[in-house]
Amino acid sequence: MMRPRQRIAILGSTGSIGASTLDVVAHHPGRFEVAGLSAHQRVDELYAQCLHWRPRVAVLPDEARARVLRQRLAAEGVPTEVASGAHALCELAAAPDVDSVMAAIVGAAGLAPCLAAARAGKRLLLANKEALVVGGALLMQAVAEGGAALLPIDSEHSAIFQCLPDARSAWHGHIDHLVLTASGGPFRRRDPATLADVTPEEAVAHPNWVMGRKISVDSATMMNKALEVIEARWLFDLEPERLKVMIHPQSIVHSMVVCRDGSVLAQLGTPDMRVPIAYGLAHPERIESGAARLDFLALPGLSFEAPDAARFPGLPLAWHALAGPAGSTAVLNAANEEAVAAFLAADIGFTDIHRINTATLEGLEPRLGAAPGLDDLLDLDRRARAHARALMRRRVPT
Ligand code: NAD
Ligand code: MG
Repeated sequence: MMRPRQRIAILGSTGSIGASTLDVVAHHPGRFEVAGLSAHQRVDELYAQCLHWRPRVAVLPDEARARVLRQRLAAEGVPTEVASGAHALCELAAAPDVDSVMAAIVGAAGLAPCLAAARAGKRLLLANKEALVVGGALLMQAVAEGGAALLPIDSEHSAIFQCLPDARSAWHGHIDHLVLTASGGPFRRRDPATLADVTPEEAVAHPNWVMGRKISVDSATMMNKALEVIEARWLFDLEPERLKVMIHPQSIVHSMVVCRDGSVLAQLGTPDMRVPIAYGLAHPERIESGAARLDFLALPGLSFEAPDAARFPGLPLAWHALAGPAGSTAVLNAANEEAVAAFLAADIGFTDIHRINTATLEGLEPRLGAAPGLDDLLDLDRRARAHARALMRRRVPT
């Protein structure tokens, strides 16, 4: 019997993860159908994707851009409907003709559509780690109540997921602790005294992975790993003390599960996001990802080291925020999004990112009530951004 095609919506299709997802899909003609695509500003790229993939719907947040895309597609006779606005993303994520949602938007902007997909019981492929950092409890509850399948796409979390038993109920019995590996980014060997002079172009030049600009800066500060520790706390329901981080510069071991009996399970592969994407798309099957195979005999050797606190002061903020009042991780995320954007715009220096993050975390009381909903979290996100921006305007963040 023919397998029904899996209908996918890709939120953030013009980004790095979005493009890699379409690349995996292209390896499997007939297996997947692209039902929806979405972008933020890059209309030309979304237009080209619509011409190629002919989705039912394409979404842009801004109506003026949506109008341009609508006209261009109509001129080509492409029947794709073009929707705009934040609600349109949530409608796409929950649409009845969508089986799987690839959440590849960067930042807290991805939380609402992730919740919509989870509540509608979709297969949710989660690259957008910020959604869990902002609304971990809410999103995990929506996944459980909506009967959604949550597949981690972040390579570390996919690695851990691949090492765990199928039955979620067995996870706790197996795990002693998790080790998230980190490449150490471009500044692993740089003199910390010179970090204040780092330029945006130096910060986004990652040695092992090609990624969007925000996550590339996060990798350089290791805030990416801090966000991933928080992400792991929710995905695997573990106390923060059972989450550890180790630098592994070759990015071959993607993370490890240290079991209660002392056995260590790891997932290995070349650093290529198409592997976790293919795994998420086809789970429990495995399909061709297009990634180069690991050649053990050509490996330069695998090494591991402890993260240096002087060089990466942002990493401990994960445990700090997890131990703080509810909402602290959302505050940290908002401050970091604002600080990274300001750094990329050359408004603040590289080391200011950490100063803004700590000062916002310390200076803003989250004041979330019991069981906060999406609006409460988005309000907190706005307050934290405003706080961070005010600190940057004063230019005396600490
Ligand atoms: P990117 O910047 O390359 O792409 C982001 C996408 O989101 C683009 O399509 C953009 O149009 C869209 N977008 C941005 N802001 C938006 C907004 N406000 N509303 C709607 N759409 C918006 O980023 P990326 O590197 O592909 O990362 C995407 C997510 O995946 C991030 O959360 C990142 O942390 C995570 N992730 C990425 C990688 C990687 O290798 N790139 C690895 C692991 C996890
Ligand atoms: Mg990662």
